[in-house]
Amino acid sequence: ENKVYTIGEALIDFIPDETGVALKDVKEFKRVMGGAPANVAVAVAKLGGKSAFISKLGRDSFGEHIIDTLKANAVNTNWVFKTDEANTGLAFVSLQKDGQRDFSFYRNPSADMLLTENDVDDVPLTNNDILHFCSVDLIDAPVKKAHRRLIEAGLNSDTLISFDPNVRLPLWPSHTECKNAILEFLPYAHILKISDDELEFITGINDADKAIQSLFVGNVQWVVYTLGSKGATIITRDNKKVTSPSFLVKACDTTGAGDAFIGALLYKLSENKQTINSLKNISSTEMTKILQFCNGYAALTTTRSGAVDALSSLDETVKFINRK
Ligand code: ATP
Repeated sequence: ENKVYTIGEALIDFIPDETGVALKDVKEFKRVMGGAPANVAVAVAKLGGKSAFISKLGRDSFGEHIIDTLKANAVNTNWVFKTDEANTGLAFVSLQKDGQRDFSFYRNPSADMLLTENDVDDVPLTNNDILHFCSVDLIDAPVKKAHRRLIEAGLNSDTLISFDPNVRLPLWPSHTECKNAILEFLPYAHILKISDDELEFITGINDADKAIQSLFVGNVQWVVYTLGSKGATIITRDNKKVTSPSFLVKACDTTGAGDAFIGALLYKLSENKQTINSLKNISSTEMTKILQFCNGYAALTTTRSGAVDALSSLDETVKFINRK
């Protein structure tokens, strides 16, 4: 059975009901599961695909809440470990009027950073599976080695590897360390998702076309370039380029739109039983259809608040995409 495995951080986001209030003045927060790779696993499962999340949580109530949320959404949690050595990570967030987010993280270290190489040794990756990772847990900690071990095991089994850097600078000691970790892991990936906000930071090139070309290093076959309300483009290593506009919606919260987008893409690839080799032969028409689906799925997410709660099912998505 084709499965989408995601590895990395899950944490609790504390989100205020009110927007436009500085973090220091927020009085009440709502707790929701966060962490990009965890959100992606939920998106795949909500669409009806098979997904498993690989991480470590603190043996605490917040860790329990995350496991409950994953299980309620049919994500396999066989590789979600628990530790007494650190707590589940927390992030307090405020939403400024201009849409900017202000964060305060409790992550020194958080349990996800303690995932070890041994923990991931028995993940049964095959050439029918997809392995997806992000950059937050490429920080200097045991979890970075766990990523490398699992990615290398995946490459040995011809597993399709997907990387969404999903840059979160406040979690890094310096911008350079974040950028270097992303560049170090980039060549492993067959599929690289990158947003317009991240392209110049990662490549150091301000011409978008040239910047995208510079990303075709190592295994990279597809660069999936997302442009918020302007939709998305897939550029292939052999220079095919397919673009699809986004859906016109009244966006109320774009948190997690990127996670929804890549979740939808990985769901489609796993549904269509794509492998590293078939990825090279996929037609432009098929790529356009996939992009439309991902844009629709992500747009629908922006019309609802929250990350996980905003993710829709396959039925809802198809209805939305075919609306007149
Ligand atoms: P995130 O905020 O989760 O980090 P991101 O920066 O990774 O997101 P974006 O490029 O902002 O990614 O958005 C991803 C996709 O979500 C877009 O390609 C588009 O399909 C959809 N999307 C985002 N914002 C909007 C919007 N305002 N209207 C319609 N669709 C949107």
